[in-house]
Amino acid sequence: MTTTNWTTHPTVALRAGAGFDLSTLDHRATPGWPGDKADGVAHMAAREEQLDDLQERLFANGRVGDKRRVLLILQGLDTSGKGGIVRHVLGMVDPQGVHVANFGVPTKEELSHHFLWRVIRKLPPPGKICVFDRSHYEDVLVARVDGLVSAAELETRYEEINNFEETLTREGYALIKVALMHSHREQGLRLAERLARGDKWWKYSPSDVDTRLKWDAYQEAYQAMFDRTSTDHAPWYVVLADRKWYARLAVTELLIHTLAGLNQEWPTPTWNLDAERERLLATMHPDDVAAAQEALSAERKL
Ligand code: AMP
Ligand code: MG
Repeated sequence: MTTTNWTTHPTVALRAGAGFDLSTLDHRATPGWPGDKADGVAHMAAREEQLDDLQERLFANGRVGDKRRVLLILQGLDTSGKGGIVRHVLGMVDPQGVHVANFGVPTKEELSHHFLWRVIRKLPPPGKICVFDRSHYEDVLVARVDGLVSAAELETRYEEINNFEETLTREGYALIKVALMHSHREQGLRLAERLARGDKWWKYSPSDVDTRLKWDAYQEAYQAMFDRTSTDHAPWYVVLADRKWYARLAVTELLIHTLAGLNQEWPTPTWNLDAERERLLATMHPDDVAAAQEALSAERKL
């Protein structure tokens, strides 16, 4: 175990509440975390076991009728580290329990429907953790910056999103909304790294620089998004992302907090435990019976 721990929990330190002001952020700061990178990396590794255990409880309960599921919404500009969260945080749990959905430029078919249509189709079944790599929030971010819809339609969308998410929480979805916010300078350096390395070119798109040129407009759109959609039922967490290790550590903790809040015990069997043990013993090789009986009589701590 590591000795460093959060001094302020990320649910408190990172929540976008009333009066939140994006323009005052120090993107290299590590709110709530008193340690350095080595402490953070060690702490994250030490949290893996608990995250894995909680995810398995979610999955197990989903199998026996518990309707709850987790939806982690990741927003952030190009190179903010969304993919790294998927790889390094969700990579700590059983891939069978995780769904990842990417939302890119809408297809012709998607455009012919309401903006939430493609989102609803990607919602996870009970017991799963679903990650949205971009989400319905693009419809109030890129849509706002590029003027894809009228101002009146934008207003409607904020309301629709809030109502949609409230419905989801009532239906058993635990929402975690994470905005990875990195600095303009850091984005420049990360894009330079992508252009420098042949194994990163696939991640680069010429549109990344076009989007970068609209940086200030995007900050304004993110501020409006926090102002309008950081609700009590689904608050935004603003994760400072110039230090990748910090962003991953913070999201790990937010995910653990959400899963732990579900208070899930291991499901009790729908079959008769003693009877099944007897039936199994009756099928075993004589030389294995003693060892099996010993294993079965040992106290099973859950
Ligand atoms: P990436 O995640 O880097 O593959 O890029 C996906 C691109 O799709 C980004 O430039 C997004 O802004 C864009 N995108 C995602 N959703 C929408 C949307 N609803 N309308 C327009 N563009 C979108
Ligand atoms: Mg991109």
